Amino acid sequence: MTESPDRARQFSPSRRSFLTAAAASAAVVATPLAASGASAVNLGSSSQGIGVPVRPQPPDKRLSQLCAAIDPRRVEQSIQALVGFGTRHTLSVQDDPNRGIGAARDWIFEQFQSYAARSGGRMTVEKQSFVQPVSPRVPAPTVITNVIATLHGDSEPNRAYVVSGHYDSRVTDVMNATSDAPGADDDASGVAAALEMARVMADQHTEATLVFAAVAGEEQGLYGSAHMAATMAEAGVDVQGMFTNDIVGSSTADDGTRDPHTVRLFAEGVPTAETEDEASIRQAVGGENDSPSRQLARFVESVAQNDATDMQVRTIYRRDRYLRGGDQISFLQQRFPAARFTEPAENFAHQHQDVRVENGVQFGDLPEFCDFGYTARVARVNLAALWSLAQAPGTPKGAGIVTTNLTNSSTLRWTASTAADLSGYEILIRETTSPEWTDAVRVGNVTSATVDISKDNVFLGVRAVDSDGHRSPVAFPVPMS
Ligand SMILES: [Zn+2]
Repeated sequence: MTESPDRARQFSPSRRSFLTAAAASAAVVATPLAASGASAVNLGSSSQGIGVPVRPQPPDKRLSQLCAAIDPRRVEQSIQALVGFGTRHTLSVQDDPNRGIGAARDWIFEQFQSYAARSGGRMTVEKQSFVQPVSPRVPAPTVITNVIATLHGDSEPNRAYVVSGHYDSRVTDVMNATSDAPGADDDASGVAAALEMARVMADQHTEATLVFAAVAGEEQGLYGSAHMAATMAEAGVDVQGMFTNDIVGSSTADDGTRDPHTVRLFAEGVPTAETEDEASIRQAVGGENDSPSRQLARFVESVAQNDATDMQVRTIYRRDRYLRGGDQISFLQQRFPAARFTEPAENFAHQHQDVRVENGVQFGDLPEFCDFGYTARVARVNLAALWSLAQAPGTPKGAGIVTTNLTNSSTLRWTASTAADLSGYEILIRETTSPEWTDAVRVGNVTSATVDISKDNVFLGVRAVDSDGHRSPVAFPVPMS
């Protein structure tokens, strides 16, 4: 790392306000756990409470090295290069080598290819093009191209995690395809983060697949990501997590205050693509705070707030900001868990604005307003999440909570993991009013377990653990008989 950490922030009010709640509730569930004769595994009895407190998963040595390799100078170079194409508007020129979205597309492709050359054939790069038909913000059929680098997993290549930024840009008039639209923060910053992650990861081995994407058409209506997510769904790719990095370029609010060690993570509660059956279950027994996207956000909190990232993750319990959307929505619409990283406090004079000076105030999304060290730290947060996801077993599938009889114990079932280095599973427990999982009960390498605590009173989940101690995100069980 090229920056010295600002230790004072650890005692800032904002950090306290969003970390002490979880810590304070860690001891809430203290009901003694008795052995259940019918359980698949003898959990033993404890007078100390159930299981052990849930703790963050610290970075392993490799992850710390990878995070340290994220280079703020390269982030700066990428943002400057993208701004240098004048405009990257989706409707801008595609065949000029120096200006417009086509030049940006080719530059990003070359960057990914240069990283893939070091991957021993495990990273492949593609231009994923399609024709967007006439739509509200697309007046004529237009070729849209996503540039995608895929680092294929060694043991579970069909299990994938996606990280993206959007490389298209805009000014005040969303249909203006010719004026300079630097889009430094929105969203060259997110593309630069994805590029830097791909560079650092290119020569690494992972169990699952990582996909690094620069998508287009975002400002016109999320078209690039919609095509990408639909393509992955049609191909049967098991996307277990997606993060868009959109507006991750600045840590300075419009009043000048700085919050350089916090990133927001927007994660929805009720799933965008929830079915009627799922809605009626949720209405009956809860779960509005337990979507796969919320579990993904909790996973990020557990692996990405540490010395390797030098960052706090402020999870926001909504899909996106008021009046705004992003590429995570395209993945949510395909029922993939997804969430959005965004800087802590946006300056709207620097987004979606014609570059101009008005009453002495500079408007426009210019690189001079960016904090490249901040974007590098956001990339480290993403990298910590992606690395930890790709080295851990996948989220348990088929998780159910048995509801055959009225009983005050709780039996969970799930499908056996296919991870080669699987060690076992943990049952997670929390009060229904707690935002975070607080207690974990180790249950061994089984596909069913009973805990002597009433499912009526707490929320329960299950996660997989491998021989290195890497934990999967939590699966929230559905009622089953
Ligand atoms: Zn954006």
